[in-house]
Amino acid sequence: MIPVTILIVDDRPENLFAMQQLLEDDPNRTLLLAHSGQEALGLLLSHEVALVLLDVQMPEMDGFETATLMRRNRRTRNIPIIFVTANHTERTHIFQGYAAGAVDYLPKPVDPVVLQSKVRIFEDLYRQRKQLEDVNARLDAKVAELERLRFELEEKNRILHTLSLLDGLTGIPNRRHFDDTLRSEWQRMLREGSPLGLIMIDVDHFKRFNDHYGHLHGDRCLKRVAGCLSAVLKRPSDFVARYGGEEFAAILPATDHAGTCHVAEALRQAVEHLAIDHAASPTTDHVTISLGAASVIPAPGCHPSDLVCAADQALYAAKQSGRNRWCYQGCQPDSCIHPLT
Ligand code: GH3
Ligand code: MG
Ligand code: MG
Repeated sequence: MIPVTILIVDDRPENLFAMQQLLEDDPNRTLLLAHSGQEALGLLLSHEVALVLLDVQMPEMDGFETATLMRRNRRTRNIPIIFVTANHTERTHIFQGYAAGAVDYLPKPVDPVVLQSKVRIFEDLYRQRKQLEDVNARLDAKVAELERLRFELEEKNRILHTLSLLDGLTGIPNRRHFDDTLRSEWQRMLREGSPLGLIMIDVDHFKRFNDHYGHLHGDRCLKRVAGCLSAVLKRPSDFVARYGGEEFAAILPATDHAGTCHVAEALRQAVEHLAIDHAASPTTDHVTISLGAASVIPAPGCHPSDLVCAADQALYAAKQSGRNRWCYQGCQPDSCIHPLT
């Protein structure tokens, strides 16, 4: 049972005593006694009071004045008041009481049964309000908690989405991200009528590198090559991904034949300048790459996989003609089988 506190205000000690006698039997009820309006206001500010039994006729500050001051204070504004008055039948007093925010009247001499039943009604109302406030507070806390969880979930989803597009070893975009980007850039270049360049990149004799230095060293080498390739691509829409194994691929929007070849050479040189030892390479004594370049102005009837095929063929040609070089192959519509279309 929620405990309640009731304030009884009367300038006459015998009246206070009489009401105290009538109300003190309930263990869930605490009684506060005040001998004046001033004392009542002081107690109201330091206690949470469910109901005020307020004598109307008091010297200095009468009950109506006390009620008016209570209504002006945010803390005490909504505390119910029962005016205890000998003048309850006088219309002017009744209206004065309501204007000050009165909720009920009790005539003097106080009838014990009426007093106790009215007090109980206000106590019930107070307890119901408290329970509602409690439910509301718990709901608010739940809503806040849900909001926080939703925010956390969104954040985690965002991180997961980002991670799902990145290659775990090198930290650059992965094959899935490459496929998505190639598709979207193809569509964009198709709309704009601009050329799209593609470069397939393969580390030369990388199996021998692993065999010679071990896989951990091989991993470190792949990370350095990935970082180097990313650093060469300067335009915001340029994109390089790990295509798989020791293969990488660069997408170059709005880049024609000459531009694509220029970037291929820049990539080749940058990796060579890393000067990573490769004692087992038959090509040179350091790590090198071979590149296959292709570009096309996307058109209806042409497909992104045609561009990948052309770059693949160019890469094959670069490997065949000695490695550590790039070759260019023009993109022919329907030059390859489209496994995914
Ligand atoms: P080529 O010059 O003709 O490209 O020869 P290659 O040895 O580079 O090509 P091949 O396809 O025969 O071998 C690729 C090697 O790349 C084999 C594999 O062990 C290595 N490799 C692929 N992925 C990883 C990786 O994540 N880490 C390491 N350390 N090695 C990898
Ligand atoms: Mg390979
Ligand atoms: Mg290779």
